[in-house]
Amino acid sequence: MTLLVVALGGNAILKKGDKGGPDEQWRNVSKAAKALVSVALNGNKMVITHGNGPQVGYLAEAVDAIADKVPHQSLDILVAMTQGWIGYLIQHALQEELRKRGINKNIASVITRVVVKKDDPGFKNPTKYIGRYYTEKEAEKLSKERGWLMKPDPRGGYRRVVASPMPRDVLESDIVLKLANEGTIVIAVGGGGIPVVKDRDRYIPVEAVIDKDLASSVLAIKISADKFVILTDVKGVALNFKRSNEKWLREVYVGELERYYNEGHFPPGSMGPKVRASMNFVNSTGNIAIIGSLEDAYNVINGRSGTVVLPKR
Ligand code: ADP
Ligand code: MG
Repeated sequence: MTLLVVALGGNAILKKGDKGGPDEQWRNVSKAAKALVSVALNGNKMVITHGNGPQVGYLAEAVDAIADKVPHQSLDILVAMTQGWIGYLIQHALQEELRKRGINKNIASVITRVVVKKDDPGFKNPTKYIGRYYTEKEAEKLSKERGWLMKPDPRGGYRRVVASPMPRDVLESDIVLKLANEGTIVIAVGGGGIPVVKDRDRYIPVEAVIDKDLASSVLAIKISADKFVILTDVKGVALNFKRSNEKWLREVYVGELERYYNEGHFPPGSMGPKVRASMNFVNSTGNIAIIGSLEDAYNVINGRSGTVVLPKR
């Protein structure tokens, strides 16, 4: 049996241009579940991880809007909320797809904390996109009114960015592995995990949003996954992305990818962390990582689509 860690992009729940009501979320997550169910049935042990950019942004905006009436909530608590929110959506949609096929399989969402370093440079240089897409004008206004840091998103438009420190450890990895080994489909490291810092013998929550691809790779390495798969809204990794000389990579050795990474082909906050996460996993385990389109999940997981990152020759 192959132990897979599959990271789902934000578009599995909300697509650019969606308003974000429950109907749209169910529609999107059902599509993702349909794409994943064949993988789950193919004799794989599966751990699903997911992003939370739009959802944590939504909650951050909501708590700001009612801040004069009720106590403000910290970002770590908002991340925890999104793990419940999105975990529920995936769990329910996937169970429905299994039920349609007459299969009964356990699915569990695990609230996950991820350790970061207190002095991580990510706290000084925020790169993580959260929330809605705004025009440049709106972005300027929000920046003035709420002190948000706004940056242009590669998909177009402006979004809020928050601190995104490097994930170092996943505290719930043992239980995740135990459940996966028992045949349970596990949903974990939601939104990159709830960030905590280690202070001597205890952990203290901090306000940040960890990149879900990097956090997923830390989990995948820790549980010695056989394969690490990142599903997103593009067909793979491109060199010179969106330029006239754009070139999509089908198979790439990790050393070669490192060179492209250093040449600046993959921006922070989008393709950068996916490539970095894949390289970390491949270098640590000697197994392959694949980045591809969620719509084509089955083929991506089997290496027939997407960009396959290979260990050193
Ligand atoms: P996710 O929600 O799946 O994590 P991200 O927005 O973080 O999605 O990353 C995927 C996006 O990365 C794509 O939609 C694409 O616009 C962008 N991107 C930037 N550089 C590249 C590249 N070199 N190759 C492919 N996609 C890229
Ligand atoms: Mg992302």
